[in-house]
Amino acid sequence: MGRIVELDGDEMTRILWGRIKEELLLPYLNLDLEYYDLGLENRDATDDAVTLQAARAIRRHGVGVKCATITPNADRLVEYGLKRMYPSPNATIRSLLDGTIFRAPIVVPTIPRLVPGWKRPITIARHAHGDVYMGTEYRVPGPGKAELLFSDGFRRTVCDFPGPGVLSAMYNLDDSVQSFARSCMSFALSRHQDLWFSCKDTISKQYDGRFRDIFRETFQSEFQERFEASGIQYFYTLIDDAVARVMRSEGGFVWALKNYDGDVMSDMVAAAFGSLALMTSILVSPDGVREYEAAHGTVTRHYRRHLQGEKTSTNPVATIFAWTGALARRGELDGNQGMAGFAARLEEAVLDTIKSGISTRDLGGSADTDTFLTAVRSRL
Ligand code: NAP
Ligand code: MG
Repeated sequence: MGRIVELDGDEMTRILWGRIKEELLLPYLNLDLEYYDLGLENRDATDDAVTLQAARAIRRHGVGVKCATITPNADRLVEYGLKRMYPSPNATIRSLLDGTIFRAPIVVPTIPRLVPGWKRPITIARHAHGDVYMGTEYRVPGPGKAELLFSDGFRRTVCDFPGPGVLSAMYNLDDSVQSFARSCMSFALSRHQDLWFSCKDTISKQYDGRFRDIFRETFQSEFQERFEASGIQYFYTLIDDAVARVMRSEGGFVWALKNYDGDVMSDMVAAAFGSLALMTSILVSPDGVREYEAAHGTVTRHYRRHLQGEKTSTNPVATIFAWTGALARRGELDGNQGMAGFAARLEEAVLDTIKSGISTRDLGGSADTDTFLTAVRSRL
């Protein structure tokens, strides 16, 4: 039996994590887990080595499941007395796996959608490498000249600064964009859904233009026939046109986006389908390694109330679906139908609970987390 790499996290989601394991998984399954504690205290104690160890373990075993974690900022530095400002764990894991993130809403028929026309899920594929997330920035203090240089002799003035301002340089790699295109195209095939890609190549002729060309070349040389055979389409349009078309669509497609666009649009799509807590996130590497997590953060506001002894109504659904995604994948890789079957039954128990009118406040219900988890368990 293969192993699942488990990455624990922070705050309210850490509390949910423990309860989901104790109440919904361990009583029913014999799991081979490899545990890494990515809670901020342990990241600080290990100088963040634990994050890299966990990422390598996911690559080794092929399947990981991750709890939400704090990305440190200036406030967290003080709050946790950190030795230094650590990078986002997700960014560290993404770069090691060179993966693509697919964010898909969990569609619950009884939860009203803010965009009534969206009948089927819209899966957002976010390119998980480079751009502003790996940019180099400079707060220009005063007058001076900014130039872009490359070691082959390329040299161009970016701006003759008349006074203070800001400056940023970013990059991407053909190889990474190509593996992004491949991941998106194979994912669309596996789901039998159209693939859209959009960026801004009219303004960014070299940078975004390169993305567009690589997508087109990858499609024509590797995927066109298979897309035609399965009756799905690849479709490129400008990002502003895409936004307008997405609003008018019925959903049911995969929308590939550059890193920043995917970051922004996935929260919009999640909100429209009901709640951030109904959104899952799958990191897929070109060689098929997968890491599953909820798309939301550590729900800090609820955690503060929890620490004061209050019962919170934090929605555990996306975190449960991160686990079921990992279990189903592990089951698929090992040919373990018992595990895949359990994952499906747990998802059904969650959806039945919501359909029966028991849900957390973010979905318009009144159940606290305890009540919700107990109801799910009783259905299991
Ligand atoms: P957040 O944890 O996603 O929460 C933002 C708000 O969304 C909450 O205050 C809550 O609204 C609502 N919400 C999110 N998840 C919910 C759930 N499961 N059930 C009910 N309501 C939910 O974002 P944040 O407060 O901006 O970030 C908190 C921490 O999470 C930060 O330190 C950030 O670095 C980290 N983060 C981690 C990840 C990750 O690991 N993947 C992703 C994003 C953020 P109400 O308070 O109105 O109920
Ligand atoms: Mg985001």
